[in-house]
Amino acid sequence: MSNTSNVLQQITGIVGKKGVIADPADMAPYLADARHYEDSTCDLVVRPATTDQVAAVVKLCAAEGVAITPRGGGTGLVGGSVTHEGIVLSLDRMNSIRQVDALNHTLTVDAGCILADIQETADEAGCLFPLSLGAEGSCQIGGNLSTNAGGVGVLRYGNVRDLVLGLEVVLPDGRIWDGMNALRKNNTGYDLKQLFVGAEGTLGIITGAVLKLFPKPQAKVTTLTAVDSADAVLQLFDKVRASLGDRLTAFELIPRLAMELCTAHIPGAVDPFDAPHSHYALIEVTSPRAGDDLRGELEEVLATAFEAELVSDAVFAESEAQTLDLWRLRETIPEAQSKEGASIKHDVSVPVSKSIEFITEANKRIEATLPGTRVCSFGHIGDGNIHYNLTQPKEIAPDAFMAKSGEFHRIVHDLVVELGGSISAEHGIGTFKRTELAHYSPEIDIELMRRIKLALDPHRIMNPGKIFDL
Ligand SMILES: Cc1cc2nc3c(=O)[nH]c(=O)nc-3n(C[C@H](O)[C@H](O)[C@H](O)COP(=O)(O)OP(=O)(O)OC[C@H]3O[C@@H](n4cnc5c(N)ncnc54)[C@H](O)[C@@H]3O)c2cc1C
Repeated sequence: MSNTSNVLQQITGIVGKKGVIADPADMAPYLADARHYEDSTCDLVVRPATTDQVAAVVKLCAAEGVAITPRGGGTGLVGGSVTHEGIVLSLDRMNSIRQVDALNHTLTVDAGCILADIQETADEAGCLFPLSLGAEGSCQIGGNLSTNAGGVGVLRYGNVRDLVLGLEVVLPDGRIWDGMNALRKNNTGYDLKQLFVGAEGTLGIITGAVLKLFPKPQAKVTTLTAVDSADAVLQLFDKVRASLGDRLTAFELIPRLAMELCTAHIPGAVDPFDAPHSHYALIEVTSPRAGDDLRGELEEVLATAFEAELVSDAVFAESEAQTLDLWRLRETIPEAQSKEGASIKHDVSVPVSKSIEFITEANKRIEATLPGTRVCSFGHIGDGNIHYNLTQPKEIAPDAFMAKSGEFHRIVHDLVVELGGSISAEHGIGTFKRTELAHYSPEIDIELMRRIKLALDPHRIMNPGKIFDL
């Protein structure tokens, strides 16, 4: 940082002593994300308490040419909040619910609100905020918006991009852009808020948001179905969706390897079936009508799927505790995988109709490259979003396996692109996927993004080095 002590003093003057962390040991929790923690450093962690304080800090940094890395809950998976310069600006003190408008079905929040707290507030108002993901107890809505988070309800409700009506953003020059409208219809030129959604903090700092609420489900059924071929998973998905329509809220794929890893490594995780099966589909259906016989309808679909030999077995959750147990088998897959050894991860999407083709062909190419590599392809298959993760062969050293990361990324991403898919479905680009984005994106895409970046942030201070090189 240029003029370090002078700038530090001025920032402290803006946010107060409580709003600054300068001790390296205390700064450490603000430097890593969920997967990347090596080498991240900064000169100062700044924790403003208001939008005006954020604006004043950014204005000062713009004048001094100080880089700013915005930070939410630090649960990102692509190194988006990892930094080597300037200040980290954490939103963790900005966590107030500003307004609940149940009639308008909107919730207005500070960007530092924890996702689980937002869900709870919506619930208390008799509504639903449907964004739901494994890190919801610690990620912040500002981080969710900045990564355009997906999660398990996308099938029914869309990504968080679809769940936001208004935003408040501190621009890289320190001005506050007030786009906090709570309107379902607003056709007044460009939809500026969407620029900041998924921008990973490179265009400004989101400080507030108006979120859409939905009717609260009054009925819910969760079932884990056992399926004995990959093709049958998609056919089952089609049947369930055709029959239940948009009451189908989640359709998640769990392969046999994931079941084995979870039951081996996660305390309390239990395979609910007597026999092993090659795949499992975790299905959740919900309805805002208490009287809907979701269970009956789902059983009927599964019975026809059983007759058609698409499904071998199924268990229904009989209580909320059992629902959580079934979801635990899905949510703890990454944790179980990391306990098994080294793993190489891919968060990709292809058209739903090509998802099984993708898995089958990718498996062949991986096996041909390094026989014995254990593939754990799981996730939001109802959205075509597959977490195509590779676990090391047992007989290979972790480092030797990880040394092949680049080669495996290329194999998987080449196939994704061949099938018309995306190399980042829901986690973003950050630093981790920057090279891959540069490799696969049409030049015009990068050029347009660069122009937008430089128009808003000519001094390049906002989360430098993320998404693409300037
Ligand atoms: C166990 C686990 C499960 C997960 N499951 C899912 C899933 O199902 N779906 C999914 O999409 N993701 C998932 N993730 C990834 C992660 O939770 C999401 O990306 C989340 O949205 C990040 O929020 P955060 O507050 O932790 O952001 P951070 O990690 O703090 O930041 C992420 C990026 O956003 C920027 N940023 C943060 N706050 C702001 C702000 N206010 N203004 C501007 N920029 C900002 C940062 O600079 C960084 O580039 C999971 C992660 C974990 C650890």
